[in-house]
Amino acid sequence: QNTINKIAAGEVIERPASVVKELLENAIDAQATAVTIEIKEGGTTLIRVTDNGCGIPKDQISLAFLRHATSKIKSVEDLFTVSSLGFRGEALASIAAVAQVELITKTGDSLTGFRYQIEGGAERGLEEVGAPDGTTFIARNLFYNTPARKKFLKRPVTEGAYVADLVEKIALSHPEISIRFIQNNQNKLYTSGNHNLRDLVYTVYGREVTANLLPIDVQAQDIKVSGFIGKPLIARGNRNYENYFINGRYIKSSIISKAIEEAYKPYMMQHKYPFTLLHFSIEPEFLDVNVHPTKMELRFRDGELMFKTVLNAVGEALSHREL
Ligand code: ADP
Ligand code: MG
Repeated sequence: QNTINKIAAGEVIERPASVVKELLENAIDAQATAVTIEIKEGGTTLIRVTDNGCGIPKDQISLAFLRHATSKIKSVEDLFTVSSLGFRGEALASIAAVAQVELITKTGDSLTGFRYQIEGGAERGLEEVGAPDGTTFIARNLFYNTPARKKFLKRPVTEGAYVADLVEKIALSHPEISIRFIQNNQNKLYTSGNHNLRDLVYTVYGREVTANLLPIDVQAQDIKVSGFIGKPLIARGNRNYENYFINGRYIKSSIISKAIEEAYKPYMMQHKYPFTLLHFSIEPEFLDVNVHPTKMELRFRDGELMFKTVLNAVGEALSHREL
């Protein structure tokens, strides 16, 4: 099947969290090792993402805001190799169409940085500025020019919570990147980027969750899985504590969730859903990806093998020691 059919067209930007997601993915694609995300009013008035990545060369800045100006996509299969998160080349164009955008960027081999401004899709100028290597992207007043879409936004607290959730997931999926999240001038999250998953769990979930982690490390045929299973914080709980990533991407999968819960059942006390942080490495041929701009639906070529692998891996870990 061809790529175009699989990637449905559509609007990417629904809310502040979608802006943050696109900007974070760009920062990751730019090889950043440290990223700061700042929002105000749930991201409705201000979103700022600063990275120390490769920067954008002067002559490509305005091009990057054209639709389909991707330097990345190749195929849908590529999405699940570790190469790149971007694939449609319309994020910057979509954001700039509905917000007041300021971009400051500097590449390593340029003496100065540049500031580029674009509002509601209209360019407002490009000038030289002093800047560190990397990119700062600021989006102000999201949907200021599309009141109909602005009306669909929830209250700033709710939008802010969506952003916080997303930043958490991305931080958990990238233990090698130091991620800092500032909400209304308050530090909300600051991960070390030291590659250590346990440290990461501590930073995101705190002492209690970290104290009860059982390691998982399994290689079965084409599936490699490593991470932790543990006790969630709240008794009633939900699947929010089940984190799993495939080749660096945060996904949802009922096969994986069911396998985790099945393995956990004999051990569960009052917690139906355990805490998990699992990183899978899987050959792309094993995945069947159906991509929509805002959600990721994933099927496995051999769902049964996937189910059994997760069931065994989690069951193994649990059998060694009590939670
Ligand atoms: P995509 O990520 O799908 O390629 P985007 O619209 O998100 O499309 O970005 C357009 C282009 O702008 C990217 O392909 C990349 O070359 C450049 N770019 C965007 N953000 C950054 C960044 N933070 N650092 C370096 N380059 C960036
Ligand atoms: Mg992108």
